[in-house]
Amino acid sequence: MDARFFTAWVEETARAVAAGRDRLTRLDAAIGDADHGTNLDRGFTAVREALSAAFPGTPGAVLTLTGTTLIRKVGGASGPLYGTVFRRMGAVLTAARREGPGEPAGHGPAGWSSPPGAGYRPEAPEDPEEEVTVTLADLAAAFEAGLAGVRKLGGAQEGDKTMVDALAPATRALSGAVRAGRGAREVFDAALAAAREGAVATVPLMARKGRASYLGERSIGHEDPGAASTVLLFAALRAAAG
Ligand code: ADP
Ligand code: MG
Ligand code: MG
Repeated sequence: MDARFFTAWVEETARAVAAGRDRLTRLDAAIGDADHGTNLDRGFTAVREALSAAFPGTPGAVLTLTGTTLIRKVGGASGPLYGTVFRRMGAVLTAARREGPGEPAGHGPAGWSSPPGAGYRPEAPEDPEEEVTVTLADLAAAFEAGLAGVRKLGGAQEGDKTMVDALAPATRALSGAVRAGRGAREVFDAALAAAREGAVATVPLMARKGRASYLGERSIGHEDPGAASTVLLFAALRAAAG
């Protein structure tokens, strides 16, 4: 997966958030302050603008810019939380960056003669067109780091009726499917199904973190807005895989 894939994922998320804005806001009206949809839509609109202005060329750079923009533009708890997810993911993918296949051995640029030795790469100036790709295993590690970041920042455990209730099972499902050797579509299907299940399972819970926790038992019987928006992230990931 390359920068184009990650840009497509984030742009698909932005579209899904715009389309789901009113639903997310209605969910937040029931147990919060009725701004989750507008918060995220403002954030992802800014993310789209930032991506098309900067056109980041690596998976890590795409996600880091996305996270930084969300933190800057989204007022409310969800901005720093989602921002942290994307920034942590970006950091992991930047560290995991792999060079693409590039020029096959023996077929260097015109005028360059291939020296002997398998795997030899010439000390050529860095090619800005060189594609950086990451693997599904890298992506799983990135989600694990994003989840750890949210847990640390927000202090929520699973069962506290927050976005963690969708993000944690989705990350587990994604990592498990990658370890089982599944292909991208199956991996993303598994993650999406787990996110959906996790979000629906927030309905009977009593909120113990965030604004909804002020309602105590009155938070029971409603889906958590942040868990619902996390489902959109995974639906967009599936859509980006085609
Ligand atoms: P605010 O509550 O500041 O208005 P939003 O409405 O945009 O922010 O986001 C609310 C969502 O943020 C909640 O539905 C919940 O999923 C998530 N959230 C709030 N606090 C936490 C936390 N401490 N840890 C994880 N997620 C949280
Ligand atoms: Mg709110
Ligand atoms: Mg608010």
